[in-house]
Amino acid sequence: MKITFTGLEVFNHLVIPGDSTGILEQHLNEARELVFSSDYKQFTLFFNTFNYISDNHTNYLYKLEGFDKDWQKVEGIPKATYTNLQPGTYQFSVKAADAYGKSSDTRVLKLIIKPVWYKSNWFYALVTLFILIMVVFLYRVLTERMRAVHQLRLERINRDKANYLNKVKMDFFTNVSHELRTPLTLIMAPLEEILNEPETDKKQRRRHELMMRNTKRLYTIVNQLFEFRKTESGTRVLRVAKANLGAVIQDTYKSFLPLAEKKKINYDFETTVNDLLVFFDKEAIENISFNLLSNAFKYTQEGQTITVMLDASATHVVLTVNDTGKGIAKEHIPKIFDRFYQVEGGETNLGSGVGLAFTRRLVELHHGFIEVKSQPGEGSSFVVYLPLADEAYKDDARVDAVKDNYRPQLEVNAEILSAAVDIEDNIELPDRNAEKETVLIVDDNAEIVSYLEEFFQPTIRW
Ligand code: ADP
Repeated sequence: MKITFTGLEVFNHLVIPGDSTGILEQHLNEARELVFSSDYKQFTLFFNTFNYISDNHTNYLYKLEGFDKDWQKVEGIPKATYTNLQPGTYQFSVKAADAYGKSSDTRVLKLIIKPVWYKSNWFYALVTLFILIMVVFLYRVLTERMRAVHQLRLERINRDKANYLNKVKMDFFTNVSHELRTPLTLIMAPLEEILNEPETDKKQRRRHELMMRNTKRLYTIVNQLFEFRKTESGTRVLRVAKANLGAVIQDTYKSFLPLAEKKKINYDFETTVNDLLVFFDKEAIENISFNLLSNAFKYTQEGQTITVMLDASATHVVLTVNDTGKGIAKEHIPKIFDRFYQVEGGETNLGSGVGLAFTRRLVELHHGFIEVKSQPGEGSSFVVYLPLADEAYKDDARVDAVKDNYRPQLEVNAEILSAAVDIEDNIELPDRNAEKETVLIVDDNAEIVSYLEEFFQPTIRW
């Protein structure tokens, strides 16, 4: 007697090999295992011995290991039905015995019930993998974020440090420059006097000229620091007058002609605008053009070219200082307008590193902006844009253009004198007559006062 598996039903539908249930690949009787997806948890297995002689007396016993504790006896049609089996692997065994006690071999079929997809191992693996990826991702993001925060903090510390250093430097320079201005004045003024006297000894004169040149140079630096501090602290205000801007630029241009000749530099001035009558602060324009030109001369060699160009667009005056000199490396360009920034590795220059910072501050104070284009080895081009419209200067103080044009040769004296003149201008003197002029000299430095007293002695009645 031999048991045959005759049929399989899921949800009371007969399963045939290759149907949509996917349970059977070959005939049921030839299958060694059946795999049920979670959708087909209710099924019935049919089996038979085809023992027609004692069909009614054949007893079938079956057992599903992992589910049934004991052998189950078949009543009626030889079949076994299971519903809602838990996912897992089971072994279905069936055996038969006829009326004469003759029994069959036990037939075994492996049954695998797959879990629903979200309970399957691959799903767990996928979820685990996803969680792992998320953890790694989060870890990365967090560490990156922490690194960025740390970097930011470091940068802030460095910036604060740099700012603090700059402030200390600035304060130091300001104090020093303030202290230096007076003694320098007292060197320059008598020197100027000596130079004005007819001197026969040529050697002596050259020495004096040398002293004068270098004192002036020192004074310019010191003064620049002092002026820069004013723009930084906001005490430098724009004092504008309507005049010919081209003339001022041309004056500054001309003051560099001897240097160009000495250094054998091709030095040109080009302009497309004549009689450019606009509002501007003469001193600011002088400082701007002077700084750009002295930089150009510092970094340009013999045989190279420096060109000053004055142009006007629809809205702006455009002042360009071009040189075919050393140029500036790309990485330095954004920093050259920072105060105290000097490109390292260059020839030692007697700069303070505030030239361009001061220039930019002045340009901004003048409601304009400055641009730079430069290629190492090819040269640099600094372009200053200042607004043309009167409207731009409506909030700035006005000065008299003619009065402002008056500039004695020795700036130092001019400054001291103008302080005295200001006082005289402002205070109404009761008994003022042309015959008896009064000069009031005011300074916190006794030496300057006594020098001026001496200076005016021959010309003024005291
Ligand atoms: P400094 O007092 O050193 O001249 P600046 O602020 O005027 O300071 O200039 C900053 C730096 O920019 C200089 O150290 C120099 O390296 C660079 N620089 C400025 N102008 C030029 C130029 N025309 N050609 C090449 N380098 C320049």
